[in-house]
Amino acid sequence: MRYEDFYRRSIDEPELFWAEQARRIHWDTPPQKILDQPQPPFRRWFVGGTTNLCYNAIDRHLAERGEQLALVAISTETGITREITYRQLFREVNTFAAVLVSLGVGKGDRVVIYLPNIAEAVFAMLACARIGAIHSVVFGGFAAHNLALRIDDAKPRLLIAADAGMRGGKVLPYKPMIDAALSESIHPPQHVLIVDRGLDAQMTRIEGRDLDYAVLRAQHEGAAVPVTWLEANEPSYLLYTSGTTGKPKGIQRDVGGYAVAMAMSISTVFDIAPGQVMFSTSDVGWAVGHSYNVYGPLIGGATSLLYEGLPTRPDPGIWWRLCERYGVRTMFSSPTGMRVLKRQDAAWLKASDLSTLKWLFLAGEPLDEPTAHWLTDGLGVPVIDNYWQTETGWPAITLMPGLDLKPLKFGSPGLPSPGYRMKVIDESTGIEQPPHQKGVLVFEPPLPPGCLTTVWGDDQRYLSSYFGHFKELLYSSLDWAIRDEDGYITILGRTDDVINVAGHRLGTREIEESVATCPAVAEAAVVGVYDELKGQVPVVFATLKQGVAESPHIVAQAMRQRVVDQLGGVAKPAQVYLVNALPKTRSGKLLRRSLQALIQHTDPGDLSTLDDPAALDEVRRALDRGP
Ligand code: ATP
Ligand code: MG
Repeated sequence: MRYEDFYRRSIDEPELFWAEQARRIHWDTPPQKILDQPQPPFRRWFVGGTTNLCYNAIDRHLAERGEQLALVAISTETGITREITYRQLFREVNTFAAVLVSLGVGKGDRVVIYLPNIAEAVFAMLACARIGAIHSVVFGGFAAHNLALRIDDAKPRLLIAADAGMRGGKVLPYKPMIDAALSESIHPPQHVLIVDRGLDAQMTRIEGRDLDYAVLRAQHEGAAVPVTWLEANEPSYLLYTSGTTGKPKGIQRDVGGYAVAMAMSISTVFDIAPGQVMFSTSDVGWAVGHSYNVYGPLIGGATSLLYEGLPTRPDPGIWWRLCERYGVRTMFSSPTGMRVLKRQDAAWLKASDLSTLKWLFLAGEPLDEPTAHWLTDGLGVPVIDNYWQTETGWPAITLMPGLDLKPLKFGSPGLPSPGYRMKVIDESTGIEQPPHQKGVLVFEPPLPPGCLTTVWGDDQRYLSSYFGHFKELLYSSLDWAIRDEDGYITILGRTDDVINVAGHRLGTREIEESVATCPAVAEAAVVGVYDELKGQVPVVFATLKQGVAESPHIVAQAMRQRVVDQLGGVAKPAQVYLVNALPKTRSGKLLRRSLQALIQHTDPGDLSTLDDPAALDEVRRALDRGP
């Protein structure tokens, strides 16, 4: 089917459209009403229908594909690869569910999962889904305070954790962070279920509180745990946003709408049919990991690759070798991950046989054109940008090669996904902008299936964070965008990442893009810094590719000139700092506000989601040295 017809129908006849899409999943009781919204912007999809995410992800496939691989969990950290069929997954998840039940976990209870990218994370999530418990995966390796905040918000009955994670060959013990988090927490769970990987020989246990998963697993192995059918709008899981702009919000997801959105998007967006292979490089702790490492591919009867490790270890060819080995059809990664590879030799892109690879999807941050070209040329595969948020749960703007591939336009993720009623509006008047005029990207309610239903325990915050920005009832994405005459939308950055130079409003992204077109540049971050005369001026922080021969002065000069040539004198960077690393969140997003705070000596706000504090020290040193 053509994208245009598919999209049109989703907007013109939403109930008919979603009733059709709902047939992609198994319902124990079919929905009685497709959409119900007596109190917008709250809405309920598939009212009265009962279903279960775990049943759709596993049980439903057993008859036809029990012996097919469901999950391949690869760790280049431990050197262990686990290949798990649907039948084995069924067994592991039932066993895990039986352990949960034995610990008193039941429907509606929250379970915080603090695990690295290992198979047990997937087992634990699906086991919760099976019994109607609400999981909240917290990125393994988040500091104690991060974990404590999320525990106190979710108030879990159980914490599931590992003894340790690994990164770049180094063991990162989790247990000290868990102990610290639980002593800080005001709602500590009674038990911690520990998946002991045998990585931390010094691990201590607290008698009575800490339980060993291997012991309980042995007791319950082979158990059968019946599926708990849930009404479509009951909560399935909570997931906290990345915290790029401030304190993370606990995004609440439903069961039915999410299952339908997964079943539809895995096929129409990601072009994955049952039996095909998807490789998402995300951590399970992010929205992408939930949707396209776990629920999407499994609900779609596909094989999902899960990867623990760095993209450059043992060498920068590892991801492409995995694509070759497992016959990956669709790969999903982030611009950040790709820019890491871009610092390395492009020959790695051609070192493996990528004949099965059809698509490379990238999401999470703006995809700059030079990186997109570098990948397309190197891999010979279309690179598809896709824009979404933890809140949406699945791509809101992308192309849908599973239907038909519209022309790619570099710099734009593409067109609105089905069910998304999008507008680009003027920030103060709320009026829709003409083509090519910058505005705020908003969605008219109802949000499509799969999107958040509310903020956990805080309907008020749901309303004020997302729907309180305009006179009309509109969901604000809090991102700037422009739409072209063909309807393609380009994201220009976050509404709080705008630089106002002498009355000219410039998106940080435009300047970053321009800087990135310099051949020496690997990655750039631009922030606005106070200036007496102009209000604000752009300042550039950049990392260079390996083996750049020019002097820093020459490179910096070239960057300034590039910006002046492409965007005009008004956008000319006041300063350029060359650094070895840029500060990012754990999910790979540039933390521009931390750069801005360092340079202006102001409060950087919540830095708990910062990945590598050393990157900030690096910036501090660069600032001390001067531009
Ligand atoms: P918080 O909301 O807590 O500040 P966050 O917005 O970084 O954190 P996520 O939900 O992980 O948390 O990220 C969504 C945001 O990432 C989007 O709003 C957008 O700013 C950015 N983003 C995601 N994909 C793209 C893309 N393809 N192009 C441009 N920006 C993107
Ligand atoms: Mg956000």
